[in-house]
Order: sequence, then C-alpha cells, then structure tokens
Amino acid sequence: MTPLLEFRNVTKIYTKGLLSRAATTALDDVSLKIEDDQPTILTVAGESGSGKTTLAMLLLGFITPTRGHILYKGKDITKLRGEEKITFRKEVQAVFQDPFAVFNPFYTVDHLLTVPIEKFKLARSRSEARDKIDEALSAVGLRPEDVLGRFPHQLSGGQRQRINVARALLLKPRLLVADEPVSMVDASLRATILESLRNLNREYGISIIYITHDLTTAYHVANSIIVLYRGSVMEAGSIDRVIRDPQHPYTRLLIDSIPWPDINRKWGQTEIVAREQEHGSIETGCKFASRCPFAMDKCRQAPPPLYQVAPQQVAACYLYDQQPVVERERLSEMLPV
Ligand code: SF4
Repeated sequence: MTPLLEFRNVTKIYTKGLLSRAATTALDDVSLKIEDDQPTILTVAGESGSGKTTLAMLLLGFITPTRGHILYKGKDITKLRGEEKITFRKEVQAVFQDPFAVFNPFYTVDHLLTVPIEKFKLARSRSEARDKIDEALSAVGLRPEDVLGRFPHQLSGGQRQRINVARALLLKPRLLVADEPVSMVDASLRATILESLRNLNREYGISIIYITHDLTTAYHVANSIIVLYRGSVMEAGSIDRVIRDPQHPYTRLLIDSIPWPDINRKWGQTEIVAREQEHGSIETGCKFASRCPFAMDKCRQAPPPLYQVAPQQVAACYLYDQQPVVERERLSEMLPV
C-alpha cells in the first residue's frame, strides 16, 4: 500500500546569502514512512538546532528540500497542484507551540472555528457548521458552552491550545504535525492536551508527528521516536525501548537530564558534559564526537551507519559496530505503530 507520508533521503541545507559559502545542514539524509492504514504517533525529538522544526516545515510544504523527496500518498508535495494541493492542505494539519499566536484578539472562538468551515466548504448550513464545531470541541474535551462566544483573553492557555487542535480536527486530517504543542502551556494542563492528541489517534485514526525536546511528554503520548542531533538520526525505535534503555550516548544525555527516578535505566553512571554545539568541527565523522566521552579515532573519520541494537531500536554509533547495519531507507521498519 502507498504510504500516507514518505521522506526519501531528505536533506535541507540553509545558506546565508548569495555570496556567502556558509551553509548549515539542518536535516541530513532522513528517510521515514507513515503508513496510511496504521495510524501512529511518532515523536521527533532533539535539542534546539536538531532539525526537528525543519522537518515539520518541510512536511507542511512551507520549505522545500535541498535533496531528496517528500511524498504524500505517493505524490511529491512540491509538485501538487489544484485539487490535490487543496486536499493536502486539508489532510495535513499543524498545531504549533504558541496557543496565543493564531488568535486575533478581536474575534471570538466561533469566528476562528467558522473560518476553515467556510474556506473549505465543509458545511451546507449554519446548523451543520455548528454541529461540526460542537463535535470537534467535544473530541478535545471542551464543552461548547464553555468556550463559544468568548474572546481569546477569556480562555486559559490550555483551552486555547485545545481549540487549535479542534480547529485542525474540523478538516478531518489524516496527519497532524504537533510542534511543541504543550511547551507554552501550564504543566497542570499538559496531560489533558496530550490525551486529546491520543484520542484523535485512537478514535479518528489520525497519525500524529509529535515534535518536542521534552522526552517526558513523548514517552506518554507516542508509539515510536526518532532522536535527531544536528540534522541526523542518532537513535530511533519503539518509545518504550529508547526511553527505558537508550543506547546512543546522545539519547542517554537527553534522558539523564530528565528528573524521573522511576524509570529503570541501565545508563546514568557516566557523565556527558552538555555544552553548546560545535558547528563545523567534526563534519566528516560522527556529529556528536566533540561531546562524546566514548569517541574513538574512527568516529572522526566517517559518520556511523545505523546499527540494529534491539528488535525495534537502531543507533548511529560505532559502539555497536558488531551489530547488523540497517539501511537508512529501512528506518521505518524499526518504528512500531
Ligand atoms: Fe560517540 Fe563514536 Fe558513538 Fe559518535 S560514533 S556517539 S563519537 S562512540
């Protein structure tokens, strides 16, 4: 079956101006697939500068790849035109970090939710539009009577973010790109929003790409995870395996910084010093070598391939060079749904 979404060896390089030779590889040869008939929640995790937001922007069609292809239902998204492009715009929706940014303070919630219905001609009457709005609000755990008729400043951050999710849901998306959707919301409300996302996946069959730096929330919401560092996949696999038993030194660094003593982790004895990225220093080898306490000579000579370290787990690290190599194009086979 044709995948819903496919990244084929996608690289994105940003250059600074026409005359400058300075270039930053924001995403480096990433391949992944999301199957149409297996709705899943995939986390893309990493620090600031890891390439996770670039991946989201590429997927939404806001920017184009420097190399490689992004296919939606088998079609290159940069070549979509007419009806196909409208369908893509409807079926791939986004929820961004800032629940305040999309609200015009002069309009009520009703207006925000009515605009997509009118734009995409989703209802034939006002009562049908109201039914769709009520259904979408209920799906994210909001009571229509609590939010309709209100202005943005009369709502909490959590309510606003759930309205954003409801707004996306109105369009009956197949894929939702949630870019740090709870990072600007009170900790007490995060669980409700994450539960809304899980509900959309379970009840409506919507696949979700959950982009975050926060592995705690990823653990609670996702089925699988890809960990990026400076645009490259460092580790990937089942969320349970990667979080409970990380194999790559970078994932270990991320997880060791989480204050959750109940996780039964094998790593944690060796300190890895977190410091600013050292762009440009190790371009020929492993990008993490300048921070890695296990770095060997060969780490600085060529980038490591992905090694299969467990049935649903791969790590790009020479510490596992006795294990089978997994071609980058086969990454998705390591990601459970
Ligand atoms: Fe460290 Fe080498 Fe593994 Fe890179 S490949 S994470 S430098 S041990």
